[in-house]
Amino acid sequence: MQPSLDLSELNPLKEAVVLAPHPDDELFAIDAIRQLKKQDYKVSIYYFHTPWRRRCEALNATNYLKCSFLEFSNPKYVLQDGKFHLYIDIIFREIKAILPKFSIVLCPALEGGHQDHDTVSLTCKILSSRHTFANHKFYYYSCYNAYSKFGIFNVGIPSQYYPNYRRHDIPCSASVHELLYLMFVVYKSQFKSWIVLGPIMLLLRLATVRCILSNISKVDSNSYNHIFSGIDNPRPLYEIHRRITHDEWLRHTRITLNL
Ligand SMILES: [Zn+2]
Repeated sequence: MQPSLDLSELNPLKEAVVLAPHPDDELFAIDAIRQLKKQDYKVSIYYFHTPWRRRCEALNATNYLKCSFLEFSNPKYVLQDGKFHLYIDIIFREIKAILPKFSIVLCPALEGGHQDHDTVSLTCKILSSRHTFANHKFYYYSCYNAYSKFGIFNVGIPSQYYPNYRRHDIPCSASVHELLYLMFVVYKSQFKSWIVLGPIMLLLRLATVRCILSNISKVDSNSYNHIFSGIDNPRPLYEIHRRITHDEWLRHTRITLNL
């Protein structure tokens, strides 16, 4: 049997943060948000890319989910969709600065779906290996990745697991009705994405009552090679976003973070 989301031996600070690279990414973590709230955690959602319309939608979503709204607000930098990797060092510093306020971090999985999700995920994986954050719990939620080399979307299921990853199955607690409301009423600017991803997400939800989170039981800070393996296979979807290739993303992040 897979371990459930274990919140029992956590540090007493009942504050959790969901890192959402773009407004609407938190919908992939909605069941974990519900679980945390049931256990009296205060949940904040931290958005990185907040142009005006998407910011308004995110405010409505956080209101609906009864979470606090936080955003990347470094006045010197505006993060562009698809280009987070150009600022990965800044993002690294921002996440590091907010982490002391929280005991649980929900972060996108490094899975070869959207390059911005992978950029945020990579920073979390490195920070989770730091002694300073040894008492923090980092959980990774899957958004979407390629199911095969043909680039068919796989939604909400991590592409693969490695020996040092643990899988946590949690109950799907958000209803289909709630998800439809958030996708098509609250986040209506993202209608096209939800037309592609929504049906797969909802079908999976109807087919199973468990949703998946993962965490890394041990990060070897001497070698970060293994954390990149999530994007080796299946083929990353970065090219679909047409702003960067997989190789360019890898080269840039490795050089900037000195990995
Ligand atoms: Zn996103």
